[in-house]
Amino acid sequence: MHDLHIHLGGAVPSPVLWEILCDNGLRTEHGDFTSFHESLTARPDEVKSLDDFLGRYFQVTEEIQSSPSAASVSAYQVVAKAHRRARVTALELRFNPYKRVRHGLHTMDAIILAVMQGLERASLHYGVATGIILSLGRDLPLSANWQIIEAAIKWRSRGSLNGANGVVGIDMAGPESRSLELSKPWMSEIATMMEKAREAGLKITYHVGESEGTGPEGMLSVIDAIHPDRIGHGIELRRAEGRLRSSLIARLQDEGICLEICPTVNRVTRVVPDFAAIGLFVRDLADHDVPFCINTDNPYLVHTNLRNEHEIVGKELGDDAAPLLKLAMQHAQQHRFLTA
Ligand SMILES: [Zn+2]
Repeated sequence: MHDLHIHLGGAVPSPVLWEILCDNGLRTEHGDFTSFHESLTARPDEVKSLDDFLGRYFQVTEEIQSSPSAASVSAYQVVAKAHRRARVTALELRFNPYKRVRHGLHTMDAIILAVMQGLERASLHYGVATGIILSLGRDLPLSANWQIIEAAIKWRSRGSLNGANGVVGIDMAGPESRSLELSKPWMSEIATMMEKAREAGLKITYHVGESEGTGPEGMLSVIDAIHPDRIGHGIELRRAEGRLRSSLIARLQDEGICLEICPTVNRVTRVVPDFAAIGLFVRDLADHDVPFCINTDNPYLVHTNLRNEHEIVGKELGDDAAPLLKLAMQHAQQHRFLTA
């Protein structure tokens, strides 16, 4: 099984984060592990929206992971847990290095190297193919995003060893509510960045259409400007109608852009009312030959794993579960950025 959409900030078990926090002597408002664990458990009845979800949990987890040793341990544990819990055999881990330098105390190079070393150990120990996708931030200044692009190019494909691939791609992530994808000047600058990364051999994925903030219009704008290899979520396609829907479907088909579906997170952030909506969406994509794969996104914040995500979708698909889940796995294999 392949997990192609999983964030370092939402995939590390809370006991691991707690131990890092204690070992580093970081102050916290939580006096004990139980209260800390509860604070990092996202529930649909508490989370109001995608923006709320991102703001509520990631600041804390990113702060804890903001040192080379913490980043390395975190990356290792993501792979180890994914393999033990769900037999994951290939994993592309995404994170934003700029958000882990602890206000300039560390360098991005040191953080990226540490994550790479954690993944190399995990690949060696568990036989999992791994790679890094560096996430840009919609909530960062353009100058910071340029720094991430330069770092990704510098660290690209450090060489594949025992299944560890180094930096393989670029992502865009962060709150969607400012609808930046509908701003021409912003999109144009991001397209220049992405093109530079692509010329250096990096693949592109892009969080868009995860909520109504960007919506189906944002998806079309990103496809026009960037031609990504994959799209993070794209679940808002299900709300598109008329000409917008038909052009989006045609573009996804023609350009072979794979949608990275993450069921539980979409439910927790209330972008879908229930899992039945995900089942309908998967059928719709398959009917129109739009590639899709199933992923976890933030497994430890929403208490899931890849096997569970497949089961959730399978339950909604009834008799079609086996062929459609097989199709999702084939698409993951075909559209992965990992080469080894
Ligand atoms: Zn994501």
